[in-house]
Amino acid sequence: MKDQYDIIIIGGGMVGLTLACALGQQQFKVAVVEAYAPEDIKTNDDYELRVSAISKSSQQILQNVNAWQAMLKRRVCSYQHMHVWDATGDGSIHFDAADLGLDSIGHIIENKVIQFSLLEQCLKLPDIDWLCPQKVTEINFSETSQQVLLESGDTLNAKLLIGADGANSKVREAAAIEIDKSAYEQKAIVAIVKSSLHHKNTAWQRFLPTGPLAFLPLSDGSCSIVWSAENKRADELIEMDEELFITELQSAFENTLGKVESVSRRAAFPLIRRHANEYVKQGLALLGDAAHTIHPLAGQGVNLGLLDAAALAEVIIKARSQGKSISSLTTLRRYERWRRADNSLMMASMSGFKNLFSNEQSELSLLRNAGLNIVNNMGPVKNKLMRHALGLEGDLPEMAKSIGW
Ligand SMILES: Cc1cc2nc3c(=O)[nH]c(=O)nc-3n(C[C@H](O)[C@H](O)[C@H](O)COP(=O)(O)OP(=O)(O)OC[C@H]3O[C@@H](n4cnc5c(N)ncnc54)[C@H](O)[C@@H]3O)c2cc1C
Repeated sequence: MKDQYDIIIIGGGMVGLTLACALGQQQFKVAVVEAYAPEDIKTNDDYELRVSAISKSSQQILQNVNAWQAMLKRRVCSYQHMHVWDATGDGSIHFDAADLGLDSIGHIIENKVIQFSLLEQCLKLPDIDWLCPQKVTEINFSETSQQVLLESGDTLNAKLLIGADGANSKVREAAAIEIDKSAYEQKAIVAIVKSSLHHKNTAWQRFLPTGPLAFLPLSDGSCSIVWSAENKRADELIEMDEELFITELQSAFENTLGKVESVSRRAAFPLIRRHANEYVKQGLALLGDAAHTIHPLAGQGVNLGLLDAAALAEVIIKARSQGKSISSLTTLRRYERWRRADNSLMMASMSGFKNLFSNEQSELSLLRNAGLNIVNNMGPVKNKLMRHALGLEGDLPEMAKSIGW
């Protein structure tokens, strides 16, 4: 049977839609299958609980797929400073965008704003079919063509199937790809918080022995908090009444932004490290959370996923331009080699940070605090660290490279 599509993407989240836009712009015939219709956000709506710290390289990718302006029109909050400190000593480190000659370190953006802005752009591209709400019932793999059966009864065929369907990927499962998995033994509690003082366009993070607490700036002066805590403590925090939660939050944050005046409903996410043993097979590739999930302490999850999308698009576009197969293992392994190294390094760093800061041993605490202060006073080392975290360094896909910020 003739393929209807070049590529089928399962999962129209932030990562799947970025890949769809990048491929649709190059006239690949793409189907995107998404289970839930994304909702738009209007400027006066309450803030969504799920937000992402978007790095400079991710901003570049989102600009290149023409979705960035739509995000700016909805709402984003740029931040120029990042302040990190240790609860068990006097160690702290402060990053300033101006030290790197940048206008910002990054942007805090609601996930729904990112997803809906990408979808708007996808819908403008004639080579993309958006199939939503639609669930996959069966996947059949073969050497030459992949077949996807949908709940609607429709059948899709393509040379290449992409799993961008998140942490519990059904595509990964159907392809019998194993994952290396371990729980961080923490949950992240998220909420929107109004404080008496403005956040000063700074991303704040305090490392407590039970896990990091971040206050991320939003455009109306409020903050999105991500409070990662050991499971028992997280369960207490989610269950306690609002008044007590506010008291605990103020104390954990050392009243850095003054009095906490209000807090929205809270939600908790179990934190699990997952890494797929393979990102690709003949005719198949995984990306984003379907391939890896990491601790949110440095806000890197979706940034890694967007780099996956940009790298995979580049590999596919190049293969076609050279007359090579877009779905062969040889082609797809280029993507896997490229991205696995970077993702593994970030995952190892996050596990290291988490372990380093959750250790209360007094010698280690002294060393940690001294280390933070030393790095804070070493301009070149600090700038190198920051450039890496912002995605300004490393083996970047073309779409992620700066054309000047
Ligand atoms: C508390 C918390 C804070 C975080 N903060 C940050 C941050 O600041 N910065 C950052 O970079 N990352 C952050 N992350 C990580 C980030 O949220 C994820 O990495 C990101 O959402 C992954 O995007 P994705 O598109 O790969 O997967 P998802 O967002 O999970 O999207 C997958 C999509 O696939 C769809 N789907 C699933 N199964 C099917 C199916 N069978 N058929 C059809 N559709 C399907 C789903 O409906 C969904 O739309 C955070 C994570 C947590 C838990």
